[in-house]
Amino acid sequence: MTDIRNPRDDLVPAMRDIVGPGHVIDDPALMEQYVVDWARRFRGPARAVVRPGSTAEVSAIMRLCARLGVPVIPQGGNTGLVGGSVPAEKAPEGRVPVIISLRRLDHIGAVDHLSGQFTAGAGATLGGVRRAAASAGWVYGVDLAARDSATIGGTVATNAGGIHVIAYGMTRAQVVGIEAVLPDGTVVSHLSGLLKDNTGYDLGALLCGSEGTLAVITAVRLRLHRPVARTSVALIGCDTYDEALSLMVSAVAPEARLLAAEVIDEAGMDLACAVLGAAWPLEQRHRVLTLLEVVDGGDASGLVGLDDADVVVGLDASEKARLWAYRESQGEAFSSLGVTHKLDVSVPLPVLAACADELRDIVGAFPAVEVFGVFGHLADGNIHVEIYGPTAEDDAADLAILECVARYGGSISAEHGVGRAKAAELHLTRSPAEISAMRAIKAAWDPDGLMNPGVIFAAE
Ligand SMILES: Cc1cc2nc3c(=O)[nH]c(=O)nc-3n(C[C@H](O)[C@H](O)[C@H](O)COP(=O)(O)OP(=O)(O)OC[C@H]3O[C@@H](n4cnc5c(N)ncnc54)[C@H](O)[C@@H]3O)c2cc1C
Repeated sequence: MTDIRNPRDDLVPAMRDIVGPGHVIDDPALMEQYVVDWARRFRGPARAVVRPGSTAEVSAIMRLCARLGVPVIPQGGNTGLVGGSVPAEKAPEGRVPVIISLRRLDHIGAVDHLSGQFTAGAGATLGGVRRAAASAGWVYGVDLAARDSATIGGTVATNAGGIHVIAYGMTRAQVVGIEAVLPDGTVVSHLSGLLKDNTGYDLGALLCGSEGTLAVITAVRLRLHRPVARTSVALIGCDTYDEALSLMVSAVAPEARLLAAEVIDEAGMDLACAVLGAAWPLEQRHRVLTLLEVVDGGDASGLVGLDDADVVVGLDASEKARLWAYRESQGEAFSSLGVTHKLDVSVPLPVLAACADELRDIVGAFPAVEVFGVFGHLADGNIHVEIYGPTAEDDAADLAILECVARYGGSISAEHGVGRAKAAELHLTRSPAEISAMRAIKAAWDPDGLMNPGVIFAAE
């Protein structure tokens, strides 16, 4: 008698054999936290969620999915904001994906004090990595507000930026080695941490920003930094973005070093005050508030020329944390309104002020938009534009924002990635030649198109 069973029917039992019955979830209620994104804007169906506990188990799962032709979505902390960590709203017939959650791969190795490096599993949280580095007398250079949920694998896969890019660079600059599992289950491991190693293509660098479309990252060798001396934080009222940008240069003493330069607009500050239950932080209201953190160069605070400014300066840890909270709560503050559209763009610094002003005018022409706000990483020309009002599916204002950014020579994704949210707009800031070179890389690594389909590249 012919066996007419769909081979995919074997998937869940076979995955249970690999990782143990407790680590495969196919109950829809229990899958909910994995199939909906942090901002609750993107969701889609998954066949199951599998939680491997080792690289060998990831490899076995990948071999199985490749054999059965099942697409996979690698997932870390599910804090990504572009829909890349959750399934598409609709999967083509027979292509409902499996989510591979890497959170159990959360080991963090000992620091090698000679090289200033350690190895972390893909599922270790960014916060855990930062604390482990600090307790050994070092600093991990990437930091962002979702630190206690975002994972090292996720931050590498998105090449996360965050609040200290001006001082340490993006995640790619911290990665000195990587271990990953290819779509056919092959493990590629290069974790020796050699600073100099020009033996062909740098696969780790390629996986930075690959958004789960090429391979599953299982471990990362990370470069650490020496801790900085004392820092000071200043929150300064400004009337324009140009004023904010000038302060970034003029307010930092020559012997001091900038560790962070962030910006919050008036709408975002009002919302932050509401969610924090805190007062407006300055004496007067301002259109734009700039937060600077500087590493002191000597005895003074490292800040200069602020005598006439409306400013509050934090020197001790609790006051610095209080000022940072206004900035760190921005994502949550806008989300407290409901489903918000979160756009993460960058523009060259000389045109940032003009672009931010034009964005306000452009968005004002969409009657569905009830709230518009901007915050972000000023020093990197990276602004997060938040709009509330349009339904989750209505992305007309989003598109107008991205087109405006492209006209200013910017990028439609500064640090969050392309995901599903911006796949159709990739052409706005990458040329046809670049996109076809990227598609060729995708086809070489993932010939059957099983890795996170629909992310970075829209269906052709
Ligand atoms: C409050 C808040 C603040 C944020 N601030 C910043 C910020 O300042 N800077 C910034 O850059 N981002 C920021 N983000 C976005 C987000 O935290 C980052 O994109 C982060 O890097 C995602 O990590 P994650 O583990 O949650 O990844 P996920 O959301 O789980 O996944 C993100 C992408 O990476 C892929 N992926 C995840 N793990 C792996 C893996 N092991 N192997 C291969 N692919 C994988 C997924 O398939 C997906 O495409 C913020 C998010 C929130 C909610």
